[in-house]
Amino acid sequence: MRILMVYPQYPDTFWSFKYALSLFSKKAVYPPLGLLTVAAMLPSDWEKKLIDMNVTRLNNDDILWADYVFVSAMHVQSQSVKEVISRCGNLDRKVVAGGPLFTIDRSEYNGVSYFVLGEVENIMPAFISDLTKGEAKPIYQSNEKPELINTPLPLWSLLNMKDYSSMNLQYSRGCPFDCEFCDIVALFGHKPRTKSSQQMVNELQALYDAHWRGQVFIVDDNLIGNKIKLKREVLPAIIEWSKSKNYPFYFVTEASMDLADDEELMNLMADAGIYQIFVGIESPNESSLVECNKIPNKHRDLIASVKKIQNHGFEVIGGFIIGFDNDTPAIFENQIDFIQKSGIVCAMVGIMMALPGTKLYERLKAENRLLHETSGNNTESTTNFISKMGNEVLANGYKHVIDKIYSADCYYRRIKTFYKEFHPKTKGSSKVELNYIISLIKSIWILGVVENGKKYFWTLLVFTLYKYPQLFWKSMSFAINRRHYYRHARKILKA
Ligand code: SF4
Repeated sequence: MRILMVYPQYPDTFWSFKYALSLFSKKAVYPPLGLLTVAAMLPSDWEKKLIDMNVTRLNNDDILWADYVFVSAMHVQSQSVKEVISRCGNLDRKVVAGGPLFTIDRSEYNGVSYFVLGEVENIMPAFISDLTKGEAKPIYQSNEKPELINTPLPLWSLLNMKDYSSMNLQYSRGCPFDCEFCDIVALFGHKPRTKSSQQMVNELQALYDAHWRGQVFIVDDNLIGNKIKLKREVLPAIIEWSKSKNYPFYFVTEASMDLADDEELMNLMADAGIYQIFVGIESPNESSLVECNKIPNKHRDLIASVKKIQNHGFEVIGGFIIGFDNDTPAIFENQIDFIQKSGIVCAMVGIMMALPGTKLYERLKAENRLLHETSGNNTESTTNFISKMGNEVLANGYKHVIDKIYSADCYYRRIKTFYKEFHPKTKGSSKVELNYIISLIKSIWILGVVENGKKYFWTLLVFTLYKYPQLFWKSMSFAINRRHYYRHARKILKA
């Protein structure tokens, strides 16, 4: 059996880092972890090939090589998914589809022969057996939330790691909270299910054995859903393994704001080599946090909590949403003010979207306020429902926020605010490789000579070398990332 695994193309979004990656000579940030994990569930004597359309072209010969084409995708990839399905149909190849896009709503994908939906660990054996016998049914659906103890290691051998700036792994699924707009809980439930410490060590060892060094993204939507297990078992195991290998990886992850209340947890995470944490802050407007049931953020001084996390050696990446029913036009300046004061350099501001499967979607449907389905990209300055403040006011205000926060003046000022609070706990050797030097020269030429914001770039470099020389590479990476944010912001403003 020959299986082609296809990861469809995602559009240029805030998270694609397209304009920053070119300076690092990388093609994408993260590999398709879900497909690589499914590949590992297939029989070892089946031939497998992976085409990630974000790093390479999907050729007709690839499709014709395969007996079946497996496709996995998120909502934001739906356009490319339709093209892939249509090409496979034209070439008479059957498509097997799974992942969040199809699990939430498969109605638009008639060309798919077999859907394997939900968390597939428990249903794959039946599907594989039926497929082998030529008796596969159109739909295999798991409504169970399986324990992750049987989840295999991703099949890293299918990947050319050099195309990516980071690898990824998953420790847990599920989040104990219940935010109205979030589709994570619709997919994975409220009870955090976790891998064992030994599984985590095996995951790290597999990446190490595949010769990966550098950034690893722990993709969990909320790493700290089960704090006790994390503190007692998992982080100590990661610390011990990392130390024994002289800290080959540094980690990025996602966590809820209640992290700021747990000193012990923050210290352990920093010791494990986690240096960057995405936190869903959503809004400085308390009534909007109440509206969406953002429990970890309610009734707290959000700026003080962000600074506490920064003090413990983490860079906070902030997720913000504009367009709650309780937002008035004052929210635009309030968000800008909050972001500037927080020193959150990488602030991902999105417009509220109603994703299928969420409580928000159901509420808006009942209120007759849904306009159309969403593209899944919440940085397009449009939304898919009737906003209480008026959709035009919302779109214009959103564009104003994006324009402001990624202007050179605001962006570089936030870096200085952040450095006042940031106490990094770097581990391992800081070996500077040849490709870093090449990227450095290329970046200095482009950011310091050719493109917008030159004055601010040079001021930051001089300021860093004078006051925080140990943060030189951090400043360079902020400046490189701004190239992406700024260009992406220009696209939003033109839309
Ligand atoms: S805390 Fe984050 S992952 Fe959890 S329900 Fe809220 S938005 Fe979703």
